[in-house]
Amino acid sequence: MRVDIVSIFPDYLAPLDLSLIGRARSAGLLKLAVHDLRRWTHDVHRTVDDTPYGGGPGMVMRPEPWGEALDELAPPGAPPPRLLVPSPAGPRFTQAMAHELAAEPHLLFACGRYEGIDQRVIEHAATRMPVTEISLGDYVLFGGEVAVLVVLEAVTRLLPGVLGNAGSLDEESHANGLLEAPVYTKPPSWRGLDVPDILRSGDHGRIARWRRSTGLLRTAERRPDLLATLPPAALDDRDRAA
Ligand code: SAM
Repeated sequence: MRVDIVSIFPDYLAPLDLSLIGRARSAGLLKLAVHDLRRWTHDVHRTVDDTPYGGGPGMVMRPEPWGEALDELAPPGAPPPRLLVPSPAGPRFTQAMAHELAAEPHLLFACGRYEGIDQRVIEHAATRMPVTEISLGDYVLFGGEVAVLVVLEAVTRLLPGVLGNAGSLDEESHANGLLEAPVYTKPPSWRGLDVPDILRSGDHGRIARWRRSTGLLRTAERRPDLLATLPPAALDDRDRAA
């Protein structure tokens, strides 16, 4: 997968050199480049913002540098990337969206700052590439960079070859609409708290059943909204009994 990120704070994206994303890059599974939007400015102050039409507080990102950046990174005539624009006004990012994005060959992120990017940039880009605005949640951040880090963590771990054990993707929270059961490791007893006996029983059938029903109960307690959207076929009789 190819990923391009445009930001006025490229250093904010430095963590993309670390951990499993860094390793995916070194292994060539992810070709990632971070670009400074100011590269596409032409005045001595390298201006990227101006006052909002209609008045009001704050500044808005001017369309010209964004237009030139998108022309260079998504040249007309070449296969278009999917443009992702972090925004608190977009649909909420989900695991389902992460799967959708993991299937794309090329993602291009446009990180807004200030009061956001002039809307015409998004409208114009949409005439020649798919554009998706993405919100991390119902709150407002300073800029889109943190959203890019979050989205790329979620997407990269779904790319083939990135996780040592891809099986862990099948049972984790949100993989099947449920939350995962709690997890434990050694020692078996710690500060008076014991690992549930069943997990030490060696009976893999019962362990799988325990994990399923504990995950279900956890979902019902913590996220009844997730249960409410599960298709009826996702639950069997033993799930209903739990
Ligand atoms: N004026 C905008 C509004 O009220 O919708 C908020 C602008 S915010 C201060 C600046 C930038 O931060 C946005 O353009 C976006 O890139 C990013 N941002 C802020 N909150 C976000 C969120 N919840 N999810 C994704 N990106 C967000």
